[in-house]
Amino acid sequence: MSTFPVILSAPSGGGKTTIARRLLERRGDIGYSVSCTTRAPRPGEVDGRDYRFLTRESFLAARDAGEFAEWAEVHGNLYGTLRAEVRRVLEAGRHVLMDIDVQGARQFHAAFPDTVLIFVLPPSGEVLLSRLAARGSEDREKLLVRLRNARSELGEVGHYHYVVVNDNLERAVDQVSAIIDAEGLRHDRVHEVEAQVEGLIADLEREIHDFSRGS
Ligand code: ADP
Ligand code: 5GP
Repeated sequence: MSTFPVILSAPSGGGKTTIARRLLERRGDIGYSVSCTTRAPRPGEVDGRDYRFLTRESFLAARDAGEFAEWAEVHGNLYGTLRAEVRRVLEAGRHVLMDIDVQGARQFHAAFPDTVLIFVLPPSGEVLLSRLAARGSEDREKLLVRLRNARSELGEVGHYHYVVVNDNLERAVDQVSAIIDAEGLRHDRVHEVEAQVEGLIADLEREIHDFSRGS
C-alpha cells in the first residue's frame, strides 16, 4: 500500500479536530501528526497528544533549526508541523493526517505534492458560530477573531482537492474515509501496477492460446 499525507483544513469550529479523532479511532492505517503550537492548552488537551505546547522562544528555535515542514501564524499564535513527526507516521506505514490551516496547507503541498487536501465546510455561518460558542474554548474577543479569519480562510477553498460539508458528523467522517480509500487506488499511487498488468497480459495470452487450440 502506498501511504500519503492528508490535510484537513476548516475555519475554526468547522469540525476538523472531531473528524480527525473519529477517523483515527476507525482506521488503523492512519496516524496523526501532532503539531507544535504556542497557544495555551485548552482544558482536557494533553501535551504530546493534541499538540506539543511550546514557548514562543522554543518554537522559533525549532523553526530556525529547520525542524518544521511548514509553519504559520494563525489567530495570533504560531503553529507548525515537525518534519520528524511526518516521517514517524509514514515510516510506520500509515497515511499521515494533519489538521493545519490554509497557509500551512499551501506550504506543505508545495513541498510534498502527493498530499491530499480536504476542506471541511460548516453547513452555515449560524451553525459555525453556535458550535464554536458551545465548545466554550475562546472568550468573546478571541471567538470574534476566529470568525473574522473564517472569511479569508473560506476564500482558499479553491486550492483544495475535496470539499466535505460537516453537517452530519458520521457522514462527514465516512466521506473523508472514502476520499482516502479512493486516493489510495489512484494509478499513480499504486506501486508496481505495470508489473501486475504485464503478469495479467501474459496469463491472458496463455489462456487465449489454450482456448484457441480448443483445450
Ligand atoms: P475545529 O477543530 O475545526 O476547530 P472542532 O472539531 O473542535 O472544530 O468542532 C467544533 C465544535 O463543534 C466541537 O465542540 C465539536 O464537538 C462540534 N462539532 C463538530 N462537528 C459537529 C457536527 N457534525 N455536529 C455537531 N457538532 C459538531
Ligand atoms: P486551534 O487553536 O483551534 O487548535 O487551531 C487553530 C488553527 O491552527 C486551525 O486552523 C488549525 O488547523 C491550525 N493548525 C493546527 N496545527 C497546525 C500546524 O501544525 N500548522 C499550521 N499551519 N496550522 C495548524
